[in-house]
Amino acid sequence: MLSFEAARAKVIEVVAARVGALEVEEVDLSQEPSRALGRILAEDVVADRNYPPFDRSTRDGFAIRSADAAEPGARLRLIGESRAGVAFDGTVGAGECVRILTGAPLPRGANTVVMQEYTRAEGDFIVFERAAQAGEHFVRAGIEARVGEAMVARGTRLSYAEMAMAAEVGRSRLKVSRRPRVAILSTGDELVGLGQKPGPFQIRNSNNVSLAAQVTLAGGEPVDLGIAPDEIGELRARIKSGLDPDILVLSGGVSVGKYDLVESVLRDLGAEILFDAVALRPGKPAVFGWCCGKPVFGLPGNPVSTMVTFALFVVPTIELLSGYEPRPLPHFKAKLAHPVHEKGNVAHFLPARVTWTTPEAGAEPSTPAPPVVEVLLWEGSGDIGAVVRANCFLIVHESRLQLDAGEWVDVLPRRGVF
Ligand code: AMP
Ligand code: MG
Repeated sequence: MLSFEAARAKVIEVVAARVGALEVEEVDLSQEPSRALGRILAEDVVADRNYPPFDRSTRDGFAIRSADAAEPGARLRLIGESRAGVAFDGTVGAGECVRILTGAPLPRGANTVVMQEYTRAEGDFIVFERAAQAGEHFVRAGIEARVGEAMVARGTRLSYAEMAMAAEVGRSRLKVSRRPRVAILSTGDELVGLGQKPGPFQIRNSNNVSLAAQVTLAGGEPVDLGIAPDEIGELRARIKSGLDPDILVLSGGVSVGKYDLVESVLRDLGAEILFDAVALRPGKPAVFGWCCGKPVFGLPGNPVSTMVTFALFVVPTIELLSGYEPRPLPHFKAKLAHPVHEKGNVAHFLPARVTWTTPEAGAEPSTPAPPVVEVLLWEGSGDIGAVVRANCFLIVHESRLQLDAGEWVDVLPRRGVF
């Protein structure tokens, strides 16, 4: 059986080889910034001029020639002002100074800015209480960016900093990859829609909701296809309609039960099954296949299994189709609060909480306390509440199922796509 790492690598390899990024479209930052958020750039964003475009003051103070205040107590004549947007129209000569405000251009002749806090006014003169140094408190023109330089590279996900950079360099229309459309189809005779009152043995279809959220967070566009019954003919018809979007995600019906029909219906439709089991709990019966030119996922229906397998296998697929290079799982290390003993030759993803200790007010700044992770009580992969209480998953690798208290362990943050 494939490890979850090998299964994830397989998904990435196959999707990258068979379908690249989708076609390019434009978003307009000035019209609909929220539509740009999270999109993947399909072009470089290039500096239209040098940044800063002029030597820009970073303080309120006085622009001078540093040699004029080499010793404390220098008195320089105030000859004008440079403020943000309005430059001083002249040159700072020997024995002179110009009031300058944050964001204002450094006047010709000056080579430093002295902070207002170290000066005092005496009539038309300013007294400098400290010795000045050349080159202080301004950012040199062109030091942040040179004209023509790529400031945000193609393939980057647009977040607030990237969007601010595009705005700074005057790019409001940006080329991005189209969002992959992801069909979501839950299977199961026990399922009812959210508007319906469940009978005593019926279950509300929560997976279509969590999957739509995970699709959106991963940068895709969910297409809700509702619920299909555990019946071959109807299931087949519904799966066929789900092959129209770019990716099909099914939930439920992939175990070994009599009514688990998804894999056989997929095979019947000519799908190539690339894996149908992963050494993973929750999520062992996860299916990845290729059907009519589209990637298809059969995720186990237990809600936590669906969440975990989506994060591991569907997220990188959405990313590749969006033009984003999938990266290793973004895990970090924390200290385990208590021993953990897991069984079976599989990796475990356990709902857990990681905490960071805040130093007490007034405490000596010292080495920060490491994050500590604690596994939550849970009733297995149907227990959505455990994930609600969790802020991460502890990864217990199949190579080491017995973990000791105080060990450094792998933690997958429960943010973004979780
Ligand atoms: P299955 O993977 O079809 O064997 O389903 C496993 C468990 O998950 C069963 O208890 C189902 O009732 C539950 N389940 C399956 N699909 C959903 C769904 N869409 N929403 C909530 N629970 C589900
Ligand atoms: Mg089922």
